[in-house]
Amino acid sequence: MPDETRRGLTDSHAHLSYVIERNGEAFLGEIAAAYSGGSGIIVDPGVEHDDFPKRKAAFGGLPFVRLTAGIWPDAESMKAVTERIAVLEGYARDEACVAIGECGLDYHWMNGTEAEQEALFRAQAELAVRYDKPLIVHSREARDDTLAIVSDFAPRIPVIIHCFGYDEDAARAFLSLGCWISFAGNMTYKRSDGLRAACAVVPEDRLLLETDAPYMCPEPRRGKDSSPLDIERTYTLAATLRGTSVERLGELVRRNAGSVFEKGRSS
Ligand SMILES: [Zn+2]
Repeated sequence: MPDETRRGLTDSHAHLSYVIERNGEAFLGEIAAAYSGGSGIIVDPGVEHDDFPKRKAAFGGLPFVRLTAGIWPDAESMKAVTERIAVLEGYARDEACVAIGECGLDYHWMNGTEAEQEALFRAQAELAVRYDKPLIVHSREARDDTLAIVSDFAPRIPVIIHCFGYDEDAARAFLSLGCWISFAGNMTYKRSDGLRAACAVVPEDRLLLETDAPYMCPEPRRGKDSSPLDIERTYTLAATLRGTSVERLGELVRRNAGSVFEKGRSS
């Protein structure tokens, strides 16, 4: 792949702090070398109520990084929703925070009850509405409840279903609410026919692609740690599924990421 094409590949969801923890500080230089001077961006999502300042200090100076603030559905946060949302609200006011999330429902790990997960999720969605920021949604084995909650918010703010893990019918249901759908490296896995079918039908203006690094490493390195440097293989597959080129897909995803995450940004 030509360097110029590579530099244009946006990664709409990568946990840079975890990537650096696993690969060492010097690895940030490799990521910067792959992205600097290109049009592609990396969105680094928050997962803990107080992780924004240290991520901002570490990555906020990189021109290709966009930061968000959010709380993953963990049990401790469900026991302290008011306090933790108050902390998050401080970061939502920061213009470096381009979205709220990732947040949502995870009925696979099932931290807390469904009702507790919903309360933490809704509190963040309300914060996103209050500060007019997009919402990045994590949804695992919780399709119907996610659809029900998202339907309350998608008319008011952009909602991104990240690391989409359902099928074509579910994709159509989220799309009918106006959501953006972000596909990760698990789309390359052998048994992911439903994901591939979904990726093929998402309208051009609703498609995002991500690594979810350090997770979801695309084949042929399934099970290994991933990083934003692995995004190429997901683009290559998506381009094949959609009958387009990687270069054109790079432009399209960049434009979508811009319209979602860079509202009001001058550059
Ligand atoms: Zn994530």
